[in-house]
Amino acid sequence: MYRTNTCGELRLSHVGQTVTLAGWVQRTRKMGGMTFVDLRDRYGITQLVFDESRDADLTARANKLGREFCIQAVGAVSERSNKNPNMPTGDIEIIVSGLTVLSTSDTPPFTIEDNTDGGDELRMKYRYLDLRRSAVRKNLELRHRMTILVRNFLDSRDFIEVETPILVGSTPEGARDFVVPSRMNPGQFYALPQSPQTLKQLLMVSGFDRYFQIAKCFRDEDLRADRQPEFTQIDCEMSFVHQEDVLEVFEDMARYLFKEVRGVELPAKLRQMTWHEAMRLYGSDKPDLRFGMTFVELMDVMKKGKFAVFDDAAYIGAICAPGCAAYTRKQLDQLTEFVKRPQVGAKGLVYVKYNEDGTIKSSVDKFYSQEDLLELKQKMGARDGDLVLILSGDNANKTRIQLCALRLEMGERLGLRDSNKFECLWIVDFPLFEWSDEEQRLMATHHPFTLPNPDDIPLLDEHPEQVRAVAYDFVCNGIEVGGGSLRIHDGALQEKMFKILGFTPERAMAQFGFLINAFKYGAPPHAGLAFGLDRFVSIMAGLDSIRDCIAFPKNNSGRDVMLDAPSELEPGQLDELNLKVTL
Ligand code: ASP
Repeated sequence: MYRTNTCGELRLSHVGQTVTLAGWVQRTRKMGGMTFVDLRDRYGITQLVFDESRDADLTARANKLGREFCIQAVGAVSERSNKNPNMPTGDIEIIVSGLTVLSTSDTPPFTIEDNTDGGDELRMKYRYLDLRRSAVRKNLELRHRMTILVRNFLDSRDFIEVETPILVGSTPEGARDFVVPSRMNPGQFYALPQSPQTLKQLLMVSGFDRYFQIAKCFRDEDLRADRQPEFTQIDCEMSFVHQEDVLEVFEDMARYLFKEVRGVELPAKLRQMTWHEAMRLYGSDKPDLRFGMTFVELMDVMKKGKFAVFDDAAYIGAICAPGCAAYTRKQLDQLTEFVKRPQVGAKGLVYVKYNEDGTIKSSVDKFYSQEDLLELKQKMGARDGDLVLILSGDNANKTRIQLCALRLEMGERLGLRDSNKFECLWIVDFPLFEWSDEEQRLMATHHPFTLPNPDDIPLLDEHPEQVRAVAYDFVCNGIEVGGGSLRIHDGALQEKMFKILGFTPERAMAQFGFLINAFKYGAPPHAGLAFGLDRFVSIMAGLDSIRDCIAFPKNNSGRDVMLDAPSELEPGQLDELNLKVTL
């Protein structure tokens, strides 16, 4: 037997037993004639003791062990005289009588401990060593546990897991595709799925009325902290359901996960907020509800023919930062710098301090009277000691998005974005289309298969931008964790959608003919959604980046620095694929 126990399980009750452990040398300390080795495996750390007075040879060998050597040790479990209450195995140690070095190790490029000295790139290059650190390993264990819980939950609700292919056809709607050349079909390419969207809809036509898949998805987009070129979705679809049926099942799933994983009880019914309300109050379709500071619109109060910036604005909005009236000049300058950063893009920031002593000080004292500012105070519901921060602009939605960034920044500064607090809600009634400045045309907000709100169908031809979708997002702590919609199951309506999205009938047929044809054979009404597993795990683990819950993630340039991928192909491979690189 390689080992009788793990490095995490021995306690006082094992004292007197002879055990064999196997693992990695985290650290060695020599104290007089004694040598102590911290032996680590996936389950924990156990202290090994070598005593020169009992076995000089063995202790001499122990003194030669280097960091990260892989070893096997046999010995007796013994009660420690110096107990370590911070370690689960801190009451015992192993008095070693036999040692085998299974593998030696080069000096690792960074310390393999909770607080490592390794920078990001180095840790990614040696990710297999990084994964030995308990901080990272715990996230993968949590991820495993969540997928098991998800599978059990969905199985208990009659969902069946079906795998869909990874080599599919390109559908250049939405993000960019990753493509794969086909050797057997010269000049032709597969694409990796951006999601199993159309395939799961076909499964509904096949009669599998509850489908799910823990599915890998691929999108060739610019990366951010919460995006990877490949990511995992808990992908689901159901037939014969209304929106409320879908929300109920997945609310139950979220409730179950939060309870099992974090011991947190979500409310019996989650709040639903329309997209319009979310934009009006929070300037975001994924509002962080862990704190208030909702927007107040000030068009009536501030447009008084006194201050040209406000008089010309299409939108004036403000938040009230409680207890921040004492902000110094420097702090206010920092906030102004913050909103002017290119990522935020505001032209400037107006502040009004309602001091504790009842005096008022603002950056627009020149333009507004004390009465004006008292009127503002009332409108904002501000109290003495509060700071009102105002943004304005000539595009209402853009200004709201800027004010959203400021609200989140203030939430951060005031410590209101506690990662142990969870505020989940549904956002509903999204617009069906959004205007793309880049493409100069309407694009589907979610995807072209989303059902328009039946009440808005008369608007499709004349005012498509006003049409609401029967679509919903699951939002937690300001992060979009999941999203989905009711689908179009009527071929004629689907064709109309393609037309509005600028597809010619030929192009629609070439790309989505399989779906259009399938809908001719008794397509059931259906709906679905997908949760981002990586995001869900990172929220549960309180991580800032999804990278930390992915075993082998890519960096910000989409590279795997460990595998050194992507990389060039051998000329022979290119020939075989009929490819020529023109760089
Ligand atoms: N396929 C969609 C997505 O990946 C989710 C859905 O509508 O089910 O965002």
